[in-house]
Amino acid sequence: MELIVAGNREDLVKARRAGTVALVPTMGALHEGHRSLIRQARVRADQVVVSIFVNPLQFSPNEDFSRYPRTFDSDLDACRAEGVDVVFHPAVEDMYPPDRQISVSSGEMGRIVEGAARPGHFDGMLTVVLKLFNLVQPDLAVFGQKDAQQLALIRRMVADFDLPIEILGSPTVREPDGLALSSRNRFLSEDDRRPALALSRALRAGAARLTPSEIRRTAMAVLDEAGPGLEVDYLALVDPATFAEVSESYEGLAVLAVAARVGSTRLIDNVTLTLNPA
Ligand code: AMP
Repeated sequence: MELIVAGNREDLVKARRAGTVALVPTMGALHEGHRSLIRQARVRADQVVVSIFVNPLQFSPNEDFSRYPRTFDSDLDACRAEGVDVVFHPAVEDMYPPDRQISVSSGEMGRIVEGAARPGHFDGMLTVVLKLFNLVQPDLAVFGQKDAQQLALIRRMVADFDLPIEILGSPTVREPDGLALSSRNRFLSEDDRRPALALSRALRAGAARLTPSEIRRTAMAVLDEAGPGLEVDYLALVDPATFAEVSESYEGLAVLAVAARVGSTRLIDNVTLTLNPA
């Protein structure tokens, strides 16, 4: 089947076919991480829709909306190679008419950890994801574990708004040296690369420890060793569903998450681990 490129909501409606639909929302500049999400969608659905939309609502004025990488032609090549059926890439004015009023609130859960570092980010993210769900009407949608708090908030929104959509989480794809793939990695210089690697190294070192206090201390020590080239925003050990910090006696799955600035680039990463297994 030929790839359909839908530039507005009318084209998207025309592209609809019978059968199960999977949505993979992205901001483009597609890499192997996005492609792994698409492959997961491909095995589960008759029709795979990839949205490519750099969402202004989830960037604050001091963030990188205008310099966010846009590589539409090579994104289309990647989608063709992965057997995507429809690429939806609406214009900003099409998504957000000037008279719009209502947006989604991510609640207290959207104001902690990553949400504390990026006020308004998760409200903007949930607003666009809800709109994409309504426009595409997928049976399932695939998101990366790389953005673990985003994934948790989307699951929360689906539960709280009774959305009839199955949410799949997909593992983080990394470079051979451990760096999590990100559209922003292209901004890292040769010199930035060494401090950037401290994120995944810290997470691995932390995950090898047993108790929450040892995990936090070990991971923070690795981040500190990276020196002034790495400016840490936060290191958090949290419940994967709520993103609340876990206590020393917590049992079960936890997420160790980090965010740091390397030069002008902000990077996030996380790993999942099990605490106090019975
Ligand atoms: P983005 O284009 O950065 O908004 O990401 C679109 C989707 O791809 C989100 O669900 C991300 O979590 C996911 N994603 C981004 N990087 C990776 C990665 N390295 N591995 C797996 N999924 C990823």
